[in-house]
Amino acid sequence: MNKEAVIGTDLALAVQLLLADEVVAVPTETVYGLAGNAFHDRAVSRIFASKQRPFFDPLIVHIAERADLGIVADQTPTAYLPLMDHFWPGPLTLVFPRTSRISDLITSGLETVAVRMPAHPLFRELLKRLPFPLAAPSANLFGRTSPTTAMHVAQQLGDVIPYILDGGPCQVGVESTIVRWTGDGLEILRPGGISREQIQAVTDLEVSMKVRSEEQIDITVPGQLPEHYAPRTPLLLATPELLQSDLSRDAVLCLNRQQCCPELNAFQLVELSPSGDLQEAAARFFAALHELDASGCRRILAVPLPESGLGVAMNDRLRRAAHQ
Ligand code: AMP
Ligand code: MG
Repeated sequence: MNKEAVIGTDLALAVQLLLADEVVAVPTETVYGLAGNAFHDRAVSRIFASKQRPFFDPLIVHIAERADLGIVADQTPTAYLPLMDHFWPGPLTLVFPRTSRISDLITSGLETVAVRMPAHPLFRELLKRLPFPLAAPSANLFGRTSPTTAMHVAQQLGDVIPYILDGGPCQVGVESTIVRWTGDGLEILRPGGISREQIQAVTDLEVSMKVRSEEQIDITVPGQLPEHYAPRTPLLLATPELLQSDLSRDAVLCLNRQQCCPELNAFQLVELSPSGDLQEAAARFFAALHELDASGCRRILAVPLPESGLGVAMNDRLRRAAHQ
């Protein structure tokens, strides 16, 4: 299939395909998603098959309006109310007790469902035109780097999905933050586009960060699977020693020159934000990984970002990409 042929801005075509239980790649403010009807097993299993994603990794369900929450969630913990008020629509996913309407494939057998109200205007418009919510994981092959442009999606999935709705480059650039209510506090299951500091600013409850260990994964418990975000080129976390070695064949990814080393002489250097702005860095993050992966360098040396705000989410992705 011609990769360019599947990219477009035809909302009516996307609606038609989704009504027919097909999958469509959609723009969101975080990363591009691969969407399908959350009520139909046939559509949801196509998402898993296209991505080659294992069935025990549950999907996030996307809704257009707060009024749609009742179709997928059984009950709303009161702790979520200020979070929904401040961050919906936006890059925050909340875990709710589930209703029986959504496909069991989505939750991998869990009694809970992860729900988000996205902010991207084209995705919202699509959701509003459909009589069902959309399940949508990131539109990449399982384990690989997330897409933040329609072309990134085409490179990985262009041959296996019928349509990519082009909504331009993603503005936030990292996946949503996933939060759950534990019964006595809020727990961040995955750091993402809304920082812990932002969440803490709107609640008096304790906001803890779940330790995501690669070693302690119990794959009999769904939702524990580590994402890898891996480029094909080996990625290493840069240490001062590595940065002082011969870098003539290695690319360096960093926040800016000041942060890593002003006199660096690498095969290629990518500064995510010359002014040191973490929001700008996040918006460029996955595109930079795609670019370096295609650059022909021997290795990608990634300098960890400051461990605050969106830096936490980017460092999480870098550690996982480096783990491979
Ligand atoms: P994504 O790959 O961006 O679609 O994110 C899906 C991730 O959300 C999964 O890998 C899980 O870690 C998490 N997730 C989805 N559903 C649940 C749930 N019911 N409870 C806890 N985490 C969930
Ligand atoms: Mg993903």
